[in-house]
Amino acid sequence: MSGKLASGSALRIALRGRRLRRTVALRGLVRETRLHPAMLVQPLFIQAGATGREPIGAMPGQDRLGLAVLAEEAGRLRAAGVRSALLFGLPSAKDASGSGAWAADGIVQEGIRALRAADRDLLIIADVCLCEYTSHGHCGVLAGNGEDAIVDNDASLELLARTAVSLAEAGADILAPSAMMDGQVAAIRAALDEAGHGQAAILAYAAKHASAFYGPFREAADSAPAFGDRRSYQMDPANGREALREIDADVAEGADIIMIKPALPSLDLVAAARARTDLPIAAYQVSGEYSAICAAAANGWLNRRAVALESLVAIARAGADIIVTYFAAEAAGWLRDEAPP
Ligand SMILES: [Zn+2]
Repeated sequence: MSGKLASGSALRIALRGRRLRRTVALRGLVRETRLHPAMLVQPLFIQAGATGREPIGAMPGQDRLGLAVLAEEAGRLRAAGVRSALLFGLPSAKDASGSGAWAADGIVQEGIRALRAADRDLLIIADVCLCEYTSHGHCGVLAGNGEDAIVDNDASLELLARTAVSLAEAGADILAPSAMMDGQVAAIRAALDEAGHGQAAILAYAAKHASAFYGPFREAADSAPAFGDRRSYQMDPANGREALREIDADVAEGADIIMIKPALPSLDLVAAARARTDLPIAAYQVSGEYSAICAAAANGWLNRRAVALESLVAIARAGADIIVTYFAAEAAGWLRDEAPP
């Protein structure tokens, strides 16, 4: 391609990229990645014994919800255009085995029924883990005592499977195992099928790093481990090839959707997963990613809306079909405002 400088000398410029950036309509025409409310999942924290909404200090704009406000919350999500919610529970009591996770009248089981009664079409995804229900705060049951205790993988599988069946009985559409126990997808799939829940899908937290970005969630869900940390079962954030092995294993065990978390620190893995499997891929923009944007925006250092949308579009551009984000309802509203008439 050749052009003329003002002086008249010939100039070869390989790419005239600016031609397609000239107007709003041109940029809209050639946009490669578009966000849609249908791809967003709103996490909800359901608290036993709460009567209304309790704001979560470390996550501005997010609340712990009592059962009585779930119908209102379902209406808010529907009005925003968000059709999917991921549920976490805060039980009234905890014990060593986390029995509140699979109780027929457990807080999430009750929450599923309340949401279903309010909106029969809402897609309900239930987190499957024990850490919110165990007195020690770990994601499985312990073997051994005191500081020497370890999380017993295979003993935990049975309890995770029992939890998944209980949540499916209550009406969950999708079960989302997040404990990072080896074999959890296979155990849950077998238990669901055995119990007659062949229609219930599994969204596997396939590659879940032991990330410092989960900090605010532990306040939200009251799930900090009482001793030690989760690095013996969640993955080292330094490892990418291992993440691909975890994804392969969950696909082989029968996962319907695989998830990577946290999202922005793992965009390389989202892209690698996209190239590796044709299953739907989800990414979880976790509490710390959300709270960091909120805090910077509250200080006037970043534009909340612009940065939130840019982060979500980056996650989609990397290859995520589904984004779990605390911005879901708010972002859906922004997307509706931006939509052409
Ligand atoms: Zn857990």
